[in-house]
Amino acid sequence: MIHCRGGVSPPELRVMSLELNKYLKNLDRIEVVMTFACTGKCKHCQNGEPENTKEHINAQAVIKAIRQVNELYKIKTVMTFGGEPLLYPGDVCAIHKAATELGVAKRQIITNGYFSKDKNRIEEVVRGLAESGVNDLLLSVDAFHQETIPLGPVKYFAECVVKAGIPSVITPAWLKSEDDNNAYNVRTRQIIAGFEPYHIPICEGNVIFPSGNALKYLREYFEDDVTEWSLYDEDPEDVRALSFMPDGGVLDGNVYETDIIEIIRAYKP
Ligand code: SF4
Repeated sequence: MIHCRGGVSPPELRVMSLELNKYLKNLDRIEVVMTFACTGKCKHCQNGEPENTKEHINAQAVIKAIRQVNELYKIKTVMTFGGEPLLYPGDVCAIHKAATELGVAKRQIITNGYFSKDKNRIEEVVRGLAESGVNDLLLSVDAFHQETIPLGPVKYFAECVVKAGIPSVITPAWLKSEDDNNAYNVRTRQIIAGFEPYHIPICEGNVIFPSGNALKYLREYFEDDVTEWSLYDEDPEDVRALSFMPDGGVLDGNVYETDIIEIIRAYKP
């Protein structure tokens, strides 16, 4: 039986979530792929070249699910990403506003910072992000993104984000290792240096792993016998993040058709 969280202490919450499904007992994170549509076309993209870029998430269905899940699990993070999530800023903001109201500590977004060239539009979207309570903005900037994404609008976005007081970091992707001096990494260092005026911290970023486009376009940078893997693969017996897809898919179900609690209950590795 599922109970409402009112007055329930953390140990009781843990028992309830264990009763629901032992494979999700450590669930504390919600990830929302807003869309597979993107303003970039990166050589290292783990999404590859998705066929379905028309769909985007139904924010209200996801918000309902987040509220229900948060009754039973101590959700610490809600993250939106894509594709480029800010192609749908109203939905992104609605999800983060709901997370803020629920007391979720980290409201995170990963963006390439390019969704419009119009300065007024950029300012408006950044205002919305600040008001919705986004408190961890990861800006993807590097040689791979900037092969197809113009720097001007991204820099203006960065400037607006800083002015709005949204905590942000620059998250570059490195090829082979951060210290390797291949041409991509050299270019990435130059691009990042161009963001110095905004004083946005630079996190160590990710080393590109063999998945999606990376295996196709950057094959020569991996070992000959490399097999596909992703940094973000979940242990199916210890699922810590619920990931919603643009078509409503989550775990083995679909939140547009089935209640999220039933989806969690039915999950088997
Ligand atoms: S910006 Fe991100 S989602 Fe879009 S193509 Fe590049 S890596 Fe993929």
